[in-house]
Amino acid sequence: MKAVQYREIGAAPEVVVVPDPEPGPGQVLLRVAAAGVCHSDIAVMSWPAESFPYALPQTLGHEVTGTVAAVGEGVTGLEVGEPVAVYGPQGCGRCAKCAEGKENYCLRAAELGIFPPGLGAPGGMAEFLLVNDARFLLPLDGLDPVTSVPLTDAGLTPYHAVKRALPKLRPGSTAVVIGAGGLGHVAIQLLRALTPSRVIALDVSEEKLALARAVGAHETVLSDQRAADRVRELTGGLGAEGVFDFVGAQPTVTTAGAVAAVEADVAIVGIAGGALPVGINTTAFDVAVTAPYWGSRGELGEVLALARSGAVEVRVETYGIDEAPLAYERLHAGKVNGRAVILP
Ligand code: NAD
Ligand code: ZN
Ligand code: ZN
Repeated sequence: MKAVQYREIGAAPEVVVVPDPEPGPGQVLLRVAAAGVCHSDIAVMSWPAESFPYALPQTLGHEVTGTVAAVGEGVTGLEVGEPVAVYGPQGCGRCAKCAEGKENYCLRAAELGIFPPGLGAPGGMAEFLLVNDARFLLPLDGLDPVTSVPLTDAGLTPYHAVKRALPKLRPGSTAVVIGAGGLGHVAIQLLRALTPSRVIALDVSEEKLALARAVGAHETVLSDQRAADRVRELTGGLGAEGVFDFVGAQPTVTTAGAVAAVEADVAIVGIAGGALPVGINTTAFDVAVTAPYWGSRGELGEVLALARSGAVEVRVETYGIDEAPLAYERLHAGKVNGRAVILP
């Protein structure tokens, strides 16, 4: 089968031919329908050899939908041909966090060498994907496999962050979304669907700000050194009760801290290395800063349900598998509006 692989530190991803996987006991083989292109892959492909945590070659793709192609011995409750979405941040299934469905925070994954597909384990940017357990497959149940594939990360990750902040996002409140890209443009829709907050989106690109308005942002602000003042102005000096940073670089994290209102929740979702010090003279009183990772299995079910209700619609641009390297180039250059999706 064809697969998109990161093969050599610092090199661009390549389309190669690898053996078709076969399901062993307990495993499920998916025929991949679609795989999303996430900015985290670009971060992974920029890590130096000394600190690279996965084996190479790495088949990319951690947002995956597909249909069940075959099941291994002992797998029940799934039909061949059934359309499913893959839950990516897979855990051991048995620790206290996994028991709650929070496999993204599995206490034993590192020790047991369990990695998400595409981030340590072979990913779904290929014609087939082997899934280790049927519990990682959620029924699509009518959702389009192409437009819904980003929901497994670009939907689930902001959903997890927004859900945690819901008690703060009451009538009259403001939510700030920094970075209206793959995750951010879904975050705006989640905020509109789940809260009465006024949503202010920040980005460095006018095109992304236009997308932000199209998907429901009430206000958009160019993300520069004056952005925090502008957000303060728009909120009568009070700032925002929920701040979601989908860039996570030092300048955006600093903006996030500067726009956080008294008792605000700030979620730093982007992984660009910024850090936000919290202190009595640094941030507003009682600001809580979190660095969330992906979301729980139950939350993925909720995101898919929300999409079925029509409240969330991911903007996608599609590419054939041979064009995957081009999709990564375009994402790196900031040219993807919404989410790029590979159709193997
Ligand atoms: P993306 O490239 O689709 O979107 C990023 C957006 O940020 C773009 O619209 C870009 O124009 C904008 N941007 C860049 N610099 C900016 C700045 N200084 N101010 C405001 N906006 C700016 O990326 P994505 O796939 O949506 O991923 C977003 C981030 O989230 C990445 O860092 C990714 O690695 C990370 N991520 C984290 C998790 C997690 O679990 N914590 C999960 C998925 C992705
Ligand atoms: Zn991702
Ligand atoms: Zn676990």
